[in-house]
Amino acid sequence: MIHPVPLLRALAFASERHSRQRRKDEDASPYINHPIAVARLLAEDGGVVDETLLIAAVLHDTIEDTETTAEELRERFGAEVTALVLEVTDDKALPKEDRKRLQTEHAADASPAAKQLKIADKVCNLRDITASPPKGWQVDRKQEYVAWAVAVVTGCRGVNASLDRVFDQAVAQSRRDVVDPGSQ
Ligand code: NDP
Ligand code: ZN
Repeated sequence: MIHPVPLLRALAFASERHSRQRRKDEDASPYINHPIAVARLLAEDGGVVDETLLIAAVLHDTIEDTETTAEELRERFGAEVTALVLEVTDDKALPKEDRKRLQTEHAADASPAAKQLKIADKVCNLRDITASPPKGWQVDRKQEYVAWAVAVVTGCRGVNASLDRVFDQAVAQSRRDVVDPGSQ
């Protein structure tokens, strides 16, 4: 049974922390749309009812992309949620290329919950790349992202068959879109 209050508190916290951030698409959509989409995908497509995982999904980019600290999350949402958010948080002190490489290398070692969160994150980003891509991204940049997402998710598969399937569909759609943008 999921209690609405902690989930709603997480939504309020994430929306406040991401309030001045925008996605990279042409319309600069509100950033909070993304964590909401990730949590929704886990629940709706992945059948996830684990409260910790859904709360972590809502909070998954707060440490990486805002001033939020792990200590703050621990005080508000507990150690379990925080550990999960940290599992999907890149070390911002490292150069971009290293961060991307480490995600691929470490994916298989992640906990089952972190693997599902990583897949949902990549599905949402692939869908965004199809429906509302980052401004200025040409075909090769999109293809590079799809290939990287596939490499990361290879290490995350086998925990939730529905999510694996949704990911494969998102990859197929992205590839169709990148090769032939008029085919949707
Ligand atoms: P990223 O590949 O990190 O950008 C994608 C990330 O941006 C996503 O994972 C997502 O992260 C976030 N995001 C925000 N808005 C959107 C959206 N509308 N659609 C999809 N994702 C969105 O790009 P960077 O600019 O950080 O560049 C990093 C890498 O890109 C470099 O390592 C380099 O290899 C490569 N690169 C390639 C170029 C090329 O032309 N081929 C040119 C320059 C760089 P989140 O879920 O965290 O929000
Ligand atoms: Zn994300």
